Amino acid sequence: MIIEKDKVVQFHYSLTTVDGDFRESSDKGEPVAFLVGRNNILPALEAAMLGKAAGDNITARLPAKDAYGEAVAGAVQRVPIKHLATKGKLTPGQVVKINTAEGLRDGTLVKVGRFNVDVDTNHPLAGKALDFDISIESVRDATAEEIAHGHAHGAGGHHH
Ligand code: ZN
Repeated sequence: MIIEKDKVVQFHYSLTTVDGDFRESSDKGEPVAFLVGRNNILPALEAAMLGKAAGDNITARLPAKDAYGEAVAGAVQRVPIKHLATKGKLTPGQVVKINTAEGLRDGTLVKVGRFNVDVDTNHPLAGKALDFDISIESVRDATAEEIAHGHAHGAGGHHH
């Protein structure tokens, strides 16, 4: 069965920034599951998987614009420490969660003061080209319920 619209795909991935200073992978946890055609994952990553099948390995290099976008200048904001959802010792370069009116946001600490921090609110991976190494674990038909919800259920997907 090949990857196309309305299939549910489970995959493992490792992700490295092309500059090599960030690395993440799903290999120690359960695979990631998504429903094809619903913007569940980065569109460029999904496009690289179309037509592939279980057992296939895919490498894809995504430019920043196809990954988390270009970094925006002037995205550094001063935030009271009490508005951070991240507790404990704060160190410049650390990625923190900020409570905002729209929910939690990621930011990278630029400067840490006594009561406030300066936070770069660009996504930590903004402005970076990414290398993905993907292994397709399974491909199956989506259920009617998954299609109605617009996401995958079960291992690696949504649990209601
Ligand atoms: Zn659902």
